[in-house]
Amino acid sequence: MASAGIVIIGAGMCGGNAAVTLREEGYRERVVLVGDEPGAPFGRPPLSKTYFRDEEDLTAWMVKPANWYEENDVERLQARVEAIDTQAREVVLEGSRKPIAFDRVLIASGGRNLRLAVPGADLPGVLGLRTLADCEAIKEVAVPGSHAVVVGMGFIGSEMAASLRQRGVRVTAVVSGVGPLARVLGDAVGSVMAAIHREKGVETLVDDRVVAFMGAGRVERVLTSRGAIVQCDFAVTGTGIEPAVAVARASGIAIDDGIMVDERCRTNVAAVYAAGDVASQRHPIFGRVRVEHYNNAERQGRAAARSMLGATEPYDDLLSFWSDQYEHAVEYVGQAPRWDQFVVRGSLEQRRLLGFYLGAGRVLAVMGLNRGGDPELDEGGELFAAKALVRNRVEVSPGVLEDEATDLRGLGR
Ligand SMILES: Cc1cc2nc3c(=O)[nH]c(=O)nc-3n(C[C@H](O)[C@H](O)[C@H](O)COP(=O)(O)OP(=O)(O)OC[C@H]3O[C@@H](n4cnc5c(N)ncnc54)[C@H](O)[C@@H]3O)c2cc1C
Repeated sequence: MASAGIVIIGAGMCGGNAAVTLREEGYRERVVLVGDEPGAPFGRPPLSKTYFRDEEDLTAWMVKPANWYEENDVERLQARVEAIDTQAREVVLEGSRKPIAFDRVLIASGGRNLRLAVPGADLPGVLGLRTLADCEAIKEVAVPGSHAVVVGMGFIGSEMAASLRQRGVRVTAVVSGVGPLARVLGDAVGSVMAAIHREKGVETLVDDRVVAFMGAGRVERVLTSRGAIVQCDFAVTGTGIEPAVAVARASGIAIDDGIMVDERCRTNVAAVYAAGDVASQRHPIFGRVRVEHYNNAERQGRAAARSMLGATEPYDDLLSFWSDQYEHAVEYVGQAPRWDQFVVRGSLEQRRLLGFYLGAGRVLAVMGLNRGGDPELDEGGELFAAKALVRNRVEVSPGVLEDEATDLRGLGR
């Protein structure tokens, strides 16, 4: 009997890369890539940066050109998956009586923006950013001289604040901590980022929260917990995502902050795999982790495809991300949800540094601000060298890390 093939749920960075890998690895059976967004899989980073600022189109961000899928016999289906019948091994589509059979299925359904649970959050003009359509909707209102409130200064909020300023929009940002990215990078770097945004004209309300959006039929102002009332033409919320786990509910697939998978992207149910923003993986180095970054979506999608084909290597990527804001570049490698020491090599004041996150004296993660190179590409760079410190959980004294004379390459071994 012919194999039913592989169904991939979600045609984002992760699902797209999984489909490509299946074909690259020589898989000949049916591959169906089901996604509810229009268009071929692409990477979202330019939606808050270059594409939003009209500096490039999305060509360089496509996983593959649109015609690749047909040429390689990957069936792309624009539809929403309602459920997975793990007994019958079928995927049920919304509004369709015809299920799709599978031998194996990959859940790559990513994340959905969290809605702020405050009055007025559904007013027109309160906008989130995840999809291309979201990006176009913000572009339409982000005209020079308009006034935006940016809610939350994580990655999306702080990149949007920067890009909006670059488009000539007045920006007021409401930040719950000391500054942009403070939750991930710590207060020292958060304060530096806050100063950068202030210099670029972003009015920043720190240690504050939006408690209501108000307006007659459309957002006109926001109210904060400290009592500020900010007039605005529109608001952009960047308050995080939740994993899109709905397809796995009532299927017996284990869920807990994402779909639980092992080192090889396997769920607790045979033939069902998950990867990308939706997956909470048992990582060989970092323990259980759910990652919401581009590099992981790409690589874990590829790893899941290989795993579906029988590969047994664990997915042990070192996990990395970047963020570009104005002329400033942030890079990060490793995983440090908590740390007990932050060691700076370089200068916070000059905004040029490597920062080491230590736990019990060991290097958990390393960040670079305008320094260190790309940890993935720049083999001569300091961040590339620092990867071995993270991988090998090297115990090293802060003084040694701070010392510019120390060659990081020597330390990682
Ligand atoms: C504006 C923006 C900028 C970013 N910039 C960076 C950056 O600079 N650096 C970085 O490291 N990361 C960045 N990221 C994060 C990165 O884009 C994500 O980690 C990545 O998109 C995750 O890919 P994914 O395929 O797992 O999930 P997603 O991109 O969420 O794709 C999942 C797809 O599945 C679809 N789907 C969900 N449920 C169903 C269903 N039931 N049926 C059918 N389809 C379904 C969704 O609609 C979506 O199309 C950015 C994200 C955004 C939004």
